[in-house]
Amino acid sequence: MTPPELKQAEENKASHSEEEPSALFPNYARYPLALVKGHGSWLWDDKGNRYLDFMSGLAVTNLGHAPEKVKAKLKSQLDQLWHSSNLFQMPMQEKAAKLLTEQCAADAVFFCNSGAEANEAAIKLARRYFQKIKGEDRYEIITFDKSFHGRTMATLTATGQNKVKEGFDPLPTGFKTVPLHDEEALKAAIGPHTAAIMLEMIQAEGGVHPVSPEFVQTIKGLCEEHGLLLIVDEVQTGMGRTGKWFAHQHYGIEPDIFTVAKGIASGFPAGAMLGKAYLREAFTAGSHGSTFGGTPLATSAIIATLEVMVEDNLPQRAEEMGQYLREQLQQKLAGLPFVKEIRGKGLLVGIECAGPVSDIVLAGQKNKLLFVTAGPDVIRLLPNLYVSHEEIDQAVETIRLVIEAHVEQSKEEA
Ligand SMILES: *Cc1c(COP(=O)(O)O)cnc(C)c1O
Repeated sequence: MTPPELKQAEENKASHSEEEPSALFPNYARYPLALVKGHGSWLWDDKGNRYLDFMSGLAVTNLGHAPEKVKAKLKSQLDQLWHSSNLFQMPMQEKAAKLLTEQCAADAVFFCNSGAEANEAAIKLARRYFQKIKGEDRYEIITFDKSFHGRTMATLTATGQNKVKEGFDPLPTGFKTVPLHDEEALKAAIGPHTAAIMLEMIQAEGGVHPVSPEFVQTIKGLCEEHGLLLIVDEVQTGMGRTGKWFAHQHYGIEPDIFTVAKGIASGFPAGAMLGKAYLREAFTAGSHGSTFGGTPLATSAIIATLEVMVEDNLPQRAEEMGQYLREQLQQKLAGLPFVKEIRGKGLLVGIECAGPVSDIVLAGQKNKLLFVTAGPDVIRLLPNLYVSHEEIDQAVETIRLVIEAHVEQSKEEA
């Protein structure tokens, strides 16, 4: 790191000393690292240490940190116009929407600022479609155990993990959660008020669990039989992460509605809900909106991200590098009984272990490799889509070392 950056890092550090209580709410369990600079696959902390980033800000910085073309587009947009309002024509939103719909079977896009907001829009669109277009009293959304859909009141209710719901009663009504891959439970949950089934194609936060193709066909069949909408939450799995533009494309299905966010703008906060043409009229003028949704600044980052992804065929790259990553993990972690299963698609990879992995994440940080968990026993790897073979080799070697050390230490303690 160059001296001015180090100086800035010193100042940032000094602004929250350890003795003084933080001026922030303590709602995050934060690692003892402050990252101050990023480039490509690499991050630097405030002490000048360099880390290999295998988490990408939780599937956000899919093009790596500070990708040149997105940076250039954002910079030039900074000189033009940051914000106008959705009261006006938005040619850049039109362009971003066109680029998105060229990569999938959706016809219309609504832009917002986050994953939870995109899912809120999906829930609202589904309800409004039945109430305003179909004239049917349907509002209930069926979701699945271990799912994660966000932290707003509706999306935490949709989420199939009780830990995100504790202390927030009363929760909104109109949601039912059933176990994944349980056809009977799903059938039993469908009633006259059911509007939609909502799922992640790979439950990411819930432990990197891909939905089986058979169960997806079951869901699709039930949606057709009962006239339900299928909503797919692609907030983490979308934007090339799993080796296709959107994870549902692995399954050969076309959801009525799907949502994206995390990787859509390379780190600029943005989200989007995409839907089929027959849903268009459910969102008449004034029915939904967002002050910051799809601003010129946000859409410049989205457009640049999409253009780079097309130009460099990044979903395909994620597929190939993901295959290499999983192969290397299989080889190098073979013989470690602590490692139970390696799974995932593209560059969303889970390593299921025989015990808690939070210490392994910390040991990774000590060894200058950043990755995260997905539930207590699963290591989750989310490198950027430009990750190189050498970076993968280095990460796999570090992961092997920290898992071995963890197993040794557990033996000593036993
Ligand atoms: C992260 C995530 C969300 C929530 O996105 P926010 O931008 O944090 O609101 C929703 N669904 C899935 C699958 C996610 O991974």
